[in-house]
Amino acid sequence: MKLFDKKGMMVIPNPIKDKTVSGPKVLIVNELYCPNGHNLINNRTSFNGYPGILIKVEQAGRTGMIALSPIYGDKCRITLDIDLKSGETMKALCPHCDAALPVHSKCSCGADLIALFLTKEQRFTDCVVICNRVDCVNSSIIEGGEIISASMMKIL
Ligand SMILES: [Zn+2]
Ligand SMILES: [Zn+2]
Repeated sequence: MKLFDKKGMMVIPNPIKDKTVSGPKVLIVNELYCPNGHNLINNRTSFNGYPGILIKVEQAGRTGMIALSPIYGDKCRITLDIDLKSGETMKALCPHCDAALPVHSKCSCGADLIALFLTKEQRFTDCVVICNRVDCVNSSIIEGGEIISASMMKIL
């Protein structure tokens, strides 16, 4: 059941049974683009039945992948082929073209918030931001220049 669909997102009934994500409905990201327009949503990863976000990461000269849940508020992250050093930052790249994902702003932890664009127009006002520090789970969806907050989720 798809409730609405816009700018690479859809709202669905919450598929998560535990308490990590609250509320009867959740926002799922189903399109996300690198600066060259490659889709970062990948069917090779699955979170509660929805394809995850797959990005390439680089730290201390080594590369690997991280998969993130496409469900807003779900902090699940899976690291593949790399042992990330806890507490340090990593470089985020497109797995298709190796383009560095752009920095949106500073995270409260002092590291960078990396932008993944919700549309091919690649606007910083419509993007998902994730912190590039390992273990910092700070992430947000920004739509029309505003962060979608938990209270906005309730009226969707
Ligand atoms: Zn790319
Ligand atoms: Zn952070």
